[in-house]
Amino acid sequence: MASIEMKNIVKQYGDGFPAVNDVSLDIADGEFMILVGPSGCGKSTLLRMIVGLEDITSGEMIIGGKRVNDLAPRDRNLSMVFQNYALYPHMTVYENIAFPLRLAKMPDDEVRRRVTEASDVLELKDHLERKPANLSGGQRQRVAMGRAIVRQAEAFLFDEPLSNLDAKLRGQMRTEISRLQRRLGITTVYVTHDQTEAMTLGDRVCVLRKGKIQQVASPRELYEQP
Ligand code: ADP
Ligand code: ADP
Repeated sequence: MASIEMKNIVKQYGDGFPAVNDVSLDIADGEFMILVGPSGCGKSTLLRMIVGLEDITSGEMIIGGKRVNDLAPRDRNLSMVFQNYALYPHMTVYENIAFPLRLAKMPDDEVRRRVTEASDVLELKDHLERKPANLSGGQRQRVAMGRAIVRQAEAFLFDEPLSNLDAKLRGQMRTEISRLQRRLGITTVYVTHDQTEAMTLGDRVCVLRKGKIQQVASPRELYEQP
């Protein structure tokens, strides 16, 4: 687990208006932080800079007390869950979840232990031998989360993970993500444009607008505001 500190982060694509414009934000160890705001306000760009998928134009990104500006994504020990799941269609659920551990050349018995534990938590135990094509949307999303949690990363990053699901499933997955995050106590940054997700999931909500922070507050403070 790790805190995430952003100091005066700027992202400039080409010579246009900065996509992220002087953002400073401290996310505590174990905190669930929501990034919310209208399309184009810079949420994904900010998330991608935390993971290392996007270069930072200026400012400092500090994860677990360490400056990571120049670290490649694989050296940051973070787990990102994408909107489109990014599962491998030819692999079983088991192999999909195990994939990052295989990459890290972890011994088989440790892989089995971790995949079993993750599939327990996510209620995927009965589906380990199936392929993604034979799963429901919610199950696929859980496999993607399984792959994120087996790595025991320092933080979880979610980029609109529920936006492809129907309303009922979205509600269910919201509850599951919340339960999972509290159980693991892992620092989480979650991008959404869904008000309900923002108000129910986060310890705090960071509202972005045109690349700048408009407000950072607890859901309660946001709700009670005139
Ligand atoms: P959000 O996730 O809030 O919808 P983004 O971070 O995707 O916002 O985009 C912020 C701004 O940066 C937008 O104006 C978008 O068009 C621009 N942008 C995002 N990615 C790129 C890119 N690779 N090249 C140029 N402009 C980009
Ligand atoms: P989202 O709103 O979900 O972040 P977008 O449709 O804005 O997704 O962006 C999808 C992809 O296109 C992202 O990888 C983003 O970096 C890239 N992108 C967004 N805006 C631009 C742009 N103006 N120029 C080039 N690439 C862009």
